[in-house]
Amino acid sequence: MMIPENPISRSSKEKPAFLRPWTGVFLTTILAAGTYSFMEWLFIVTKPSFLNGLSTFRQIEVLLFFTALVVLTAIITLLPLVLISLFPAFQKARPVMQNVGLLAPAVILATLTLLLLDNFTYTVFRIGIVSSEGLARLLYAFVFVALVVWFWQNAERFAKKQATGAKGKGWQNIITISFLVAALCILAVAVMRKEIGSQAVQQAAVERIKNRPHILLITSDGVNAANMSLYGYKRETSPRLQVLAESSLVAENAFPNSGSTAGSIISLYTGKYPSVTRVMYPPNILRGANAYQHLPGILRNQGYRTVQVSYPHYVDAYSLNVLEGFDIANDRSMPTSGVLVTIQRYVTNDYAYFLYETTNRIVDRLRHILFIKRMTNPYDLVTEEPDIVADLHKVNGVLDLIREADQPLFVHLHLMGTHGPKYYPINKVFSAGQENKQQEVWNTDYYDDSILQFDTYVGSILDVLRETEKFDQTILVIGSDHGQQFVPSKRIPLLIHFPAGAHARRITTNVQNLDIAPTLLDFLEIPIPGYMQGQSLLRLDETQRPIFAFRNTAIVKGGDEASFELDVSRLSPPFYQFGRANLEYCQVWYQLDLYKKTWSTGEILGYVQPCSNDMLLTNEQALDLIVQHLKSTGFDTSSLRPDEIFSR
Ligand SMILES: [Zn+2]
Repeated sequence: MMIPENPISRSSKEKPAFLRPWTGVFLTTILAAGTYSFMEWLFIVTKPSFLNGLSTFRQIEVLLFFTALVVLTAIITLLPLVLISLFPAFQKARPVMQNVGLLAPAVILATLTLLLLDNFTYTVFRIGIVSSEGLARLLYAFVFVALVVWFWQNAERFAKKQATGAKGKGWQNIITISFLVAALCILAVAVMRKEIGSQAVQQAAVERIKNRPHILLITSDGVNAANMSLYGYKRETSPRLQVLAESSLVAENAFPNSGSTAGSIISLYTGKYPSVTRVMYPPNILRGANAYQHLPGILRNQGYRTVQVSYPHYVDAYSLNVLEGFDIANDRSMPTSGVLVTIQRYVTNDYAYFLYETTNRIVDRLRHILFIKRMTNPYDLVTEEPDIVADLHKVNGVLDLIREADQPLFVHLHLMGTHGPKYYPINKVFSAGQENKQQEVWNTDYYDDSILQFDTYVGSILDVLRETEKFDQTILVIGSDHGQQFVPSKRIPLLIHFPAGAHARRITTNVQNLDIAPTLLDFLEIPIPGYMQGQSLLRLDETQRPIFAFRNTAIVKGGDEASFELDVSRLSPPFYQFGRANLEYCQVWYQLDLYKKTWSTGEILGYVQPCSNDMLLTNEQALDLIVQHLKSTGFDTSSLRPDEIFSR
């Protein structure tokens, strides 16, 4: 590429102030970086994002922090060029270097334009980089390069004006310097504001123990225990699990703690109720100390290689801000070193998360159009016809991990084939002869086949564990994140196979996904942290506990649960993203709609060993338990008046 000759140096000949042309370059860069930061911030702050949970003041802080960082990065990139051009030997090359320096603002502005274009076409027409294939991808790449060149040419003219402008009495230098000072101040404040709790898991890793068992946590989305032969279903939907169950701990009455995938998985990781972490659904993220307190982080500290194999957005450790928990999440190395982690170590989560978000937004898009890595649209996963072999690829990835494991391995595999509302099983047994395209939503034949498919996947994992002689050094946890159609009050599978079939039995007392982390830690003889709210199933006191679960469906747009888009207008106090609070006690479920203030209750389908009537709660007692729980987790419950709720 030809480097255009530099008009800056020529026009500033009369005033040969040495740094004058560089001032133009710097000002242009700072302006470009500032515009970029502001527009990205504006885009994120005006749509449902994790910023919604912050005060306006904090949102502006995030903007200032981000701008400071982008500007400083741009300036640091330019500095080597300035330093080199100081050497007399490079005097002649100085104009060329200043021109090269102008590539910085040109790339920043081209990137910004690409993002704006993409935001616009995607918002209006649902067409964008993420949906581009083949030639279209190439076209985007071409547009990007053309934009860089165009901005480069124009940056030159702009910089020249900045450097030689009529009022150019050094005010630009003042702006540059004050910008730098302001940026440094903001960064310093950000570092001082770092929350204390985040140091919790940063202590030196304890002595790493080689002989720990591998842990495979395998969850499939939205599986009803009632549809599994493992739990007595008439159709043989889980033959492999039935065999495994003979030497496993199986919970007959297991429940999730949220009806939404993100809320459920995060409660499973952290051992904390969603009411504590306030993570229910994207764009909720883990914040403060919560981001560092979880099972994957503890295991990683114990020398485990921790890998998450799931889907973006809903279950992605990265998107949900599970910090220092996974070495790899969804093919992406979780940053454990490097600039981003250094920044994250020293500043508040919110700042660092914004930085991740914005970095990913551009990196994902550039990689897609330059054919480096495909980008996936999280909404397509559940609303479009899914890639029927997506789960298969993930299972194969886990098989490779098992074969290669030479240190204790913790894998969380989350599969989506059973999610619905439509299902695309590879092998059709119960839906044989039916047309995939013509299936009705939540069709039972297809659903049962997708559960059988899940069983087959578990089977292939068992086969490889045996082949590699790792079966007896592995803990297998099989579960789900909620019942079909996001209902938390349906029984879900929970099976734990310990090495040598230890602790094998069937538990009928109600258990919850919150119990999984304490159980695993208990088995490994790792102290269970006080923040975990579940109980180890290895020492379960067999009296009934109230089990709480939360749903967000009341705040999904138009009440249409299949739209998966959050109605932000309803994200308001006192309950924010919480739409319904559920309670399971013995064989009865209770549900309080926090939005409509209505009450409903019913019997849990297929409940094993129901309690006697005198053990059951009255509606008043159940409502009181829910209200007390919400109160204890910081919600304002003054709008929940029993007389009004029961009269509706
Ligand atoms: Zn789910």
